[in-house]
Amino acid sequence: MDTKILLDESDIPREWYNVVADMPNPPAPPLGPDGQPVGPEALEAIFPPGVIEQEASAERWITIPDAVREVLRLWRPSPLYRAHRLEQALETPARIFYKNESVSPAGSHKPNTAVAQAFYNRQAGIKRLTTETGAGQWGCALSLAGQLFGLDVRVFMVRVSYEQKPYRRTLMQTWGGEVFASPTDLTESGRKILARDPDTPGSLGIAISEAAEEAAGRADTNYALGSVLNHVLLHQTVIGLEARKQMERIGAYPDEVYAPCGGGSNFGGIAFPFFADKATGREVRLVAVEPTSCPTLTKGLYTYDFGDAIGLTPLLKMFTLGHDFVPPGIHAGGLRYHGDAPLVSQLHEEGLVDAVAIPQLETFQAGVLFARTEGIVPAPESTHAIAAVIRSARECARSGEPRTLLFNLSGHGHFDMAAYERYFAGDLKDFEYPAEAIEKSLAHLPHFGDG
Ligand SMILES: *Cc1c(COP(=O)(O)O)cnc(C)c1O
Repeated sequence: MDTKILLDESDIPREWYNVVADMPNPPAPPLGPDGQPVGPEALEAIFPPGVIEQEASAERWITIPDAVREVLRLWRPSPLYRAHRLEQALETPARIFYKNESVSPAGSHKPNTAVAQAFYNRQAGIKRLTTETGAGQWGCALSLAGQLFGLDVRVFMVRVSYEQKPYRRTLMQTWGGEVFASPTDLTESGRKILARDPDTPGSLGIAISEAAEEAAGRADTNYALGSVLNHVLLHQTVIGLEARKQMERIGAYPDEVYAPCGGGSNFGGIAFPFFADKATGREVRLVAVEPTSCPTLTKGLYTYDFGDAIGLTPLLKMFTLGHDFVPPGIHAGGLRYHGDAPLVSQLHEEGLVDAVAIPQLETFQAGVLFARTEGIVPAPESTHAIAAVIRSARECARSGEPRTLLFNLSGHGHFDMAAYERYFAGDLKDFEYPAEAIEKSLAHLPHFGDG
């Protein structure tokens, strides 16, 4: 059987799939500070109309503009691989497939939405975009997309990553992005945090506050978010739509679908098109994989919380560890967000999507095994999905069951070699976020008038 299952450029999806159409219950609405649902107009200060419309849409299929498909052609369709050598190494009867999103110029799935967001902002006459970045992947994706659509991009990069990953910074600058270590003294939000804690490693929540504040204050500037929101997950469904077609080509269908889960966008991207089948009665297990150090879906609370650290965003109903949760400086920087996409959260709450948390050392073991068998050095985020797949494949080896496993290889680790270096040096530890620390952060959840 082939190792790579390839599609033609004409097979790039023409429409994104909107999971809202197949959810058993409508999504819980975002709320304003008064506890009342906010309308789309609340987002107008920072998002273009095309994006706002998608954020609230319940249409099953949404047309991908030609200008977006033209750019996606630079790397899509991405290949689907059969992991023959990994299977052999595990001596498992399981069939393991992975979608390789590391083939994009930025090395991850994130350009799939960056390109769409840049397009809609350009269409609305916007000149500049601000954003946050954790591991640097999103800042790279948006810098690239901004360049392709003629927009300036300013990136607030979480300080710990800014220091750990100097080449990510240079990559963003190569694509024309402007990069600052967050918190900065350029924004009210940043100054407030620095006054409280001058040595803070920063967090995604803080960086989001800074980027959103600047975008809200300037008419020529909008904000772009790399995950969490409905429109971002929508744009990422090209992953699952292609994967479903690729598996169909070889007469296969997954029993289990895995993806690393930070804000939930690449998980939604690969899993939702299979959820469409699940909604019609097909058996398929969808599993979001997160670190034990930031266990949002597995240890968080399903409730309304802010999307950022300061409390500037509308309240989103999601699994959260509390908006002022600052996770340890683990090496899967893209998985350090305090919350999870409302769509993924709701489906998890309803028992339709599973979640598992994996400790850091097991993820690096999995990443090294993958590199030594399949050749690709995975991003530390992606190793979470690989580790979960390996657990399942080992179970198949014990039971003799030939399950079909699919995962999203969300990115490569070429800019994360410092993380692998520390792993080989024995410097990395497992970190289980202490229950008391989670409780403390959850105590700061927003309260409404009558509690
Ligand atoms: C950002 C990132 C993730 C996690 O983000 P999601 O929003 O959960 O998709 C996973 N893998 C890589 C390589 C990333 O860059």
